[in-house]
Amino acid sequence: MITHATIHFNETGTPVADDFDDVYFSNDDGLAESDYVFYQHNQVDERLKSHPRRHFVIAETGFGTGLNFLNAWQRFESCADKTATHLHFISFEKYPIRKEDLATALANWPQLQHYAQQLVSQYPNAIAGCHRLHFDNVTLDLWIGDVHESLANMNYGTGGLVDAWFLDGFAPSKNPDMWQQSLFDAMAQLGREHATFATFTAAGFVRRGLQQAGFEVNKVKGYGRKREMVVGRLTSPSAKANCPQPYQRAPRALNKVAIIGGGIASATLLHRLGARGITASLFCKDDKLAQGASHNNQGAVYPHLQADNSPASEFFAHSFVYARRFYDSLLAQGHRFDHQWCGVLLQGVKDEIVARHTNLVEKNNWPTWLIQAVDAQQASDIAGVDTPFGGLYIPEAGWVSPPQLVNAIVDAACHASNHTINMNCEITKIARSDGQWLVHSQCGTYGPFDDVFVCTAEHSNALLEGDGIALQSVRGQVSHLAQSAQSAKLKTVLCHKGYFTPSVNGEHCMGATFTKNSQARDIRDEDNQTNWQQFSGFYGQCEWTQMLGEINGAKAAIRATFADHLPMFGQYPQLDEYQRTFPLLPKGKWHSEQILTHEYEGLHLFTGLGARGLCTAPLCAETLVASICDEPIPVSLRVDHALHPARFIIRNLKRGQIT
Ligand code: SAM
Repeated sequence: MITHATIHFNETGTPVADDFDDVYFSNDDGLAESDYVFYQHNQVDERLKSHPRRHFVIAETGFGTGLNFLNAWQRFESCADKTATHLHFISFEKYPIRKEDLATALANWPQLQHYAQQLVSQYPNAIAGCHRLHFDNVTLDLWIGDVHESLANMNYGTGGLVDAWFLDGFAPSKNPDMWQQSLFDAMAQLGREHATFATFTAAGFVRRGLQQAGFEVNKVKGYGRKREMVVGRLTSPSAKANCPQPYQRAPRALNKVAIIGGGIASATLLHRLGARGITASLFCKDDKLAQGASHNNQGAVYPHLQADNSPASEFFAHSFVYARRFYDSLLAQGHRFDHQWCGVLLQGVKDEIVARHTNLVEKNNWPTWLIQAVDAQQASDIAGVDTPFGGLYIPEAGWVSPPQLVNAIVDAACHASNHTINMNCEITKIARSDGQWLVHSQCGTYGPFDDVFVCTAEHSNALLEGDGIALQSVRGQVSHLAQSAQSAKLKTVLCHKGYFTPSVNGEHCMGATFTKNSQARDIRDEDNQTNWQQFSGFYGQCEWTQMLGEINGAKAAIRATFADHLPMFGQYPQLDEYQRTFPLLPKGKWHSEQILTHEYEGLHLFTGLGARGLCTAPLCAETLVASICDEPIPVSLRVDHALHPARFIIRNLKRGQIT
């Protein structure tokens, strides 16, 4: 669990960290010092003029109050002559300061208020891992946790990621644990060719350590009364990847792009491509978007957390906080979709569920702002109606209207970029043509495209030649139920074995059934009965359920899932490619001298979101696009492995199940 910084403000208003007995920035004009030491001494402005990539990446040790970040943001924005159009700022923070302290500390800088307000409004609650925040042409990756651990968790290939290092942190004498050779080595490992660094200290061991890591190191005049500081450049890039070869995702230039599908996966992908100036043609087989698994009236949005901080839990927790920021930013931009962030109650309706909840609380891996234990009385108070069950409460969760949300995301994407949306266009075949892709429908052939993204959930295999993917189809029917005066008081989502929502337009959603290996989408009376029996089995004695109206509608759809219940995104893989390239995987050896090439290069998957796409799609889409565009990846190495399209191939080869 993350510990917040305990701080006080000294007589000059400068924040001081009690545990380190050191200031976050200098008492005499910390902003000017930040600019001098870090921004100017990495020659950022000059380098922006001829930067070879769209994004310039700065990484910083110790986010603190975000002063260095805000200064870099302001400087980047005011730099007129630049080839890089995007600033990507990565920062590490072991003891995040609280939001109210952040606002107080940044009030020191009226000239930064425009930026500070945006930072404060998005500043995340603390859970370990990467929090990606988007501002106009600036991205902040705030890695909460010890910098050494975060660096080890980052996913990068041999080319490195970082153009300039801001080596900040409390004075080495006050924070020796951070200033270690392993930090300098990781800085070099993450550095791109010609990466620079600047730091306020000139301590001998820091200079020697950076030299040993591969940097050329020079002493220069320090800021103000300070005699010396140290700057340098990476002269011996390490070319060492942090990601094992079989899991490395190869970057590509995205030019002519097609997206097949019209649900939450396609919509979020379109949005995140557009955010980078990449336009796409989207193909949807129906006359309206969101007619597949995203077509329910109300869908709950909450993270599926386990007691242990497993890769899956980490993924769901970060997906959830990212999705909330994403959806809130759509709303702030004026896009509309029915929703309520009314919390979700996970009800302990059975002994085994109660045991699971107790285990989660006892293991204490998750903060209470994310998930907290409640007894039946507290649950009833939260729900606004009686419930006999306690359980877990997720206060920031809620429900959205999935079709309205998908439309809002696509509208936002099309508002910002010139995408083409083709409705009523069922793609029936994707075919190679001179190294590109053509997509065929009954009404014609489109393309050629360099890259095609298959986001068609349970229909994905029908479009994939070759091995296909091990998708399972699980039918689910949700029933609609007229509210009563009593049930209209329900003000949170109840999750029992299924779910029951607060009413909207006079109706509750109640669901859902779970029929394995079925792709049938007909509405079934017996499924409505199953939903009712399950619900009334748990809540039938409660007064507020007595006068509930009739089931007056239902929707059925298919959840497309993999055996591990996690989504999948990335290049479509084939078993023989991995067998050929990594012949020693069955012996547990990852390294190969050969380069992995793909028969279906440029054909990508984004599927398997199951019933959790509302929570997971935004972060998956962002991660997928970032990895193709050779940008920093917003999820940890282990999470990326868990979502990798070749994960089953690699695992099976490793276990010797396929040789
Ligand atoms: N760059 C900051 C700014 O602009 O406000 C000031 C940084 S302050 C001098 C140093 C920061 O490093 C503190 O916020 C501290 O919590 C953080 N820190 C110290 N040790 C760390 C570690 N091992 N990993 C990550 N952050 C660490």
